[in-house]
Amino acid sequence: MELDLELDCDRCGRRIEATTRDLAAQRIVRCPNGHATELVDEARGGRDMQAAMDDLERALDRFGKR
Ligand SMILES: [Zn+2]
Repeated sequence: MELDLELDCDRCGRRIEATTRDLAAQRIVRCPNGHATELVDEARGGRDMQAAMDDLERALDRFGKR
């Protein structure tokens, strides 16, 4: 499970689509014009959010199997 994120390219302002998983991994993403932007997970908020969603997903799986 992951959340979609939208950010604006620093160089051209086009929308860049990424996910919390990309943020947690601090991946490099590209805007539609090909400008690379490195996702910086400041204060590790993205990692924590992704970990919380992974926990939730596991909890939902267990719930569904009952
Ligand atoms: Zn751009």
